[in-house]
Amino acid sequence: MSVGEREQWAVRVGRQDGEAERCRLLAAGLLDRTLRVRPDGTGHLLLPVLEPVEGAVRALFSPHAPRPELPRHELVGGIAILAEPDREAAERLRASRPSIRTVVAPIGHVEGPYRTRRFEVLAGEDSTVATVREHGLVFRVDLATVYFSARLSTERQRLLALVRPEERVLDMFAGAGPFALTLARVAGLVVAADINPAAVEAMVENCRANRVQNVLPLLADAARLPALFSRSFDRVVMNLPLSPVPFLPAAFSLCRPGGTIHLYHLQETEGEALPALAGYPVAKVSERRVRSYSPGRWHAVYDLQVGSEE
Ligand code: SAM
Repeated sequence: MSVGEREQWAVRVGRQDGEAERCRLLAAGLLDRTLRVRPDGTGHLLLPVLEPVEGAVRALFSPHAPRPELPRHELVGGIAILAEPDREAAERLRASRPSIRTVVAPIGHVEGPYRTRRFEVLAGEDSTVATVREHGLVFRVDLATVYFSARLSTERQRLLALVRPEERVLDMFAGAGPFALTLARVAGLVVAADINPAAVEAMVENCRANRVQNVLPLLADAARLPALFSRSFDRVVMNLPLSPVPFLPAAFSLCRPGGTIHLYHLQETEGEALPALAGYPVAKVSERRVRSYSPGRWHAVYDLQVGSEE
C-alpha cells in the first residue's frame, strides 16, 4: 500500500462501460466520491463503492486531492462578487469554474436613488454586464448602472404564484424588470416604472430578448404615477426597501379595493412598517422575511390587501 492509499470495495467494469457505470453508481448513492477511479492493469476500470454490492472486490485507491476552499462570493450571471478586493482570491475563483467570466469587488455601498454600486474588476473580462438566467427568462444587466439581486428569485416566484390571469400589475420600482417580466407570464398587463434611464433601457431590451409584449416600461418617478393612471391595478409591487413609505399614497391611490400591495421594507424588528400604514385602507396584512441584509437587519415583505375607503 503506498502512502495515502485506502482499501475500499470496488466494482470492475470494461473501459467502454466505465462512464455509464460511474453515473449509475453515483445516482444510486453507491460511488465513493472521495476516491479516484483507476485502471486494474488488465484493460478494466475499478470504481470505488461504499458497500459490498454484488461482484465487488477489495482494492486499493488513491484519494482525490482535497478541493481548495473558494473565497465567499455572490454569483450574478457570470459575475462573481467578492466582499474584499483580493486579486489572488479573484484569480483562484475565476479559474475554478468556466461559468465565472469576471470577478469584481464593490467600491463602497449600494448608494443613490438608483440603488447601484460601483465595482472594481479584479479578474477576467473587464465588464460588469451580467447575463442572468432565471426560471426560463434571461436578464441582461450592467451591475454598475442598474440594481439587480439574484437573491430575490424565490420571492419573484412566490408573487408569480399569486397572480391571476388578466391581472393588471404595477411595478413601481422595476429596475431591469425581473419582477415585471416574471409576473407578465400570467398577468394581462404589467406597467413597470423606474427613475433610472439605464434601468428602463435594460428593461426594454430584456422585454425584446424574452419576447415579452405585455410589459409597459416607463421612465417615471413612482410618486407621479397617479397623474397617469387611475385606481385600476389589481397588484402593486413596491420594491424600494430602504424608503418605501413616501410612496404609499401613490400605491394606495393606484391599487383597487380588494387588490394587493407588496411592500418591501428593510427592518430590524418585526412589524416595523405597520405604524406607517395607519390611516390607509388596509383590510388584511401578512408579513414575512425575504432575505437577510446585514447582521440584525432583513428585507421583509408586507402583503397588504387593500380595503374600501369607508
Ligand atoms: N425591482 C427591481 C429589482 O428587483 O431588481 C429594482 C429594485 S431596486 C431596490 C429599486 C429601484 O427603484 C431602482 O432601480 C431605482 O432606480 C428605482 N427608483 C428609486 N426611486 C424611484 C422613484 N422615485 N420612482 C421610480 N423608481 C425609483
